[in-house]
Amino acid sequence: AQKLHLLRHNVLSFVSSRTGSDLTRRQYDVIVVGGGHAGTEAAAAAARLGAETLLITQKIMTIGALSCNPSLGGVGKGQLVREVDALDGLCGRAGDSAGVHFSILNRSKGPAVWGPRAQLDRERYRQFIQSELLSTPRLTVLEGSVDELLVSQPNPEEPGHHRVTGIRLVDGSHPILSSSVVLTTGTFLSGSLFMGQTTSPGGRMGDAQSCAGLSYTLKETLGLRVGRLRTGTPPRIVKESVDLSLKLAVILTCYRVVRESVHLNCHIQQDAKGPRYCPSIESRVLRFPGRRHQVWLEPEGLTSDLLYPQGLSMTMPPELQLRLLREIPALHRAEIRTPGYGVQYDFVCPTQLTPSLQVKSTQGLFLAGQINGTTGYEEAAAQGLWAGVNAGRTALSLPPMALSRTQSYIGVLIDDLVGRGVTEPYRMFTSRAEFRTYLRPDNADLRLTPRGFEEVGCVTLRRYKKAVSVRDGLQEALMALQSVALSSTRWREKLGNISLSENKSTTLNGLDLLQYKDVSFEMLASAFPECLSQYFEYSQRLKIEAVYRPHCEKQSREMERIRSEESLSLPSDMDYLSLPVSLSQEVREILDRVRPNTVSLSKTTTKHISTVYVSKVILKKYII
Ligand code: FAD
Repeated sequence: AQKLHLLRHNVLSFVSSRTGSDLTRRQYDVIVVGGGHAGTEAAAAAARLGAETLLITQKIMTIGALSCNPSLGGVGKGQLVREVDALDGLCGRAGDSAGVHFSILNRSKGPAVWGPRAQLDRERYRQFIQSELLSTPRLTVLEGSVDELLVSQPNPEEPGHHRVTGIRLVDGSHPILSSSVVLTTGTFLSGSLFMGQTTSPGGRMGDAQSCAGLSYTLKETLGLRVGRLRTGTPPRIVKESVDLSLKLAVILTCYRVVRESVHLNCHIQQDAKGPRYCPSIESRVLRFPGRRHQVWLEPEGLTSDLLYPQGLSMTMPPELQLRLLREIPALHRAEIRTPGYGVQYDFVCPTQLTPSLQVKSTQGLFLAGQINGTTGYEEAAAQGLWAGVNAGRTALSLPPMALSRTQSYIGVLIDDLVGRGVTEPYRMFTSRAEFRTYLRPDNADLRLTPRGFEEVGCVTLRRYKKAVSVRDGLQEALMALQSVALSSTRWREKLGNISLSENKSTTLNGLDLLQYKDVSFEMLASAFPECLSQYFEYSQRLKIEAVYRPHCEKQSREMERIRSEESLSLPSDMDYLSLPVSLSQEVREILDRVRPNTVSLSKTTTKHISTVYVSKVILKKYII
């Protein structure tokens, strides 16, 4: 009955608030602006923490919309989704509910770098996210456009430092107050859409750009450094018009269409950087002429009559888009439902944020998602969750929290953003994580769920109990494996012809043995059924744990060192240029520009500094 009441309450605010004028409250613990992948996770996380939360977004119908590809996860990105899920976020469950095809990418490599990926039904994904938000206690959703961020100056002696106090909607209604605001405006901040020679203001096709007042507050009032990035999306093709009996090959005549239409294509002439790892067909042809370009036709959903041509993002005039597609044999009579287009938008340079994703100079203001220079749903969701957690904690007068890069991909992502900044749209890769053999998709629940419940507060009791029972079961199973020990000769006799490198008399336990490629948990359980067969449900996880355990143990000292440096905070207002210590001018200038949050200087901060360790020793004097 309570759930029904809540649902009705939230539905009412969903529906009645469409005008934005009849909100019952005018003050919330947390306000989240934007209902994309970052905003939905932020709002749900803040509410899970116990904060009374308001999510304001331009259109309720586009909450959870997949602006580009109908898929979730992949290499590096799949790890992020598992971690968001381990912290009880929404996107993993939405992916399960809306998935039409599940796969593991990178299977030829070790399981640490496998990429879980789901092909999605767009409509189902959106519906799942919307219904989850509707039934989240303490969360109200309002359709409206935020035009202004309200800020005050906490201390007249600290010019340039502000405190957020709320927002004002574009409809001119009364301000809504809050001491914690999360901005997740995606590609909408000063967004411009491009198709051929046409440019128009907008955040996404069919959606207006973010109101000018918001950009003004960020740039002029708060003095934040802002850059410009771009991205694009392919045309959507009518499924029936594709001839699947023919080859799907991008052939040379397609390249000619691209080259001949460059002068008619405003988007590719822009200076703003686009996503390096999913470039438009124009960028591919111009940068790598003569190379083969792969295209995949993906379903847009189970009942959708459209296909998404992955690899054919383009911004040339619509008639030329059709000409290019029809040069591809399988698409010779293709029909386009919506043409491809590009978007260019403002992002806030993320080195101006702390590891809790709070703007350094503005207390209570958090940023997450594409606004921080990233690209991709998963990167947005991961930041959204963490910004929501910290906005909720601030509202509840709890100290901010950071995630270490030794503990999660979310920690790597945030550390890279706030420590190194971005010069092009940032996307996650497994190579960005130095401890990737530990940060595996299979153990995300063990790494994060207990902490998410015990320390952070964003994980529900039900989820926590499940993770604890898995953790205990795995620990028992590992102990059981270690308890069965035999000489390598005896193991050979028991398991048949397996190749062991140890000499005959060496004693090996079950866990040692499981490290071998041709030994499975099932083989060991059939040799010792009385103590191992009860752990069959964990067989794959045990195998992965056994393979990586020795390497992770070797890395543990390095992880410990980084963690302890991450806990040593440096003052945000440190005057590096005149520190009375022996630092070279070059080092001082880099430190002054990057203003590291902690002594654990990130990779690129230190890339140009040969004296990094000297700097660290010196800086340790100044920790707070
Ligand atoms: P979004 O999902 O964009 O959500 C922003 C939300 O904020 C929207 O709901 C909007 O209505 C709302 N909003 C904005 N301003 C206001 C305001 N003032 N008041 C209230 N609400 C507001 N990603 C890739 O990985 N690869 C790609 O190739 C790719 N191509 C893309 C192409 C296009 C054309 C677009 C638009 C996006 C593309 N993306 C791509 C990016 C992907 O969609 C984003 O990374 C992801 O959606 C970012 O999530 P977000 O939550 O930061 O922002």
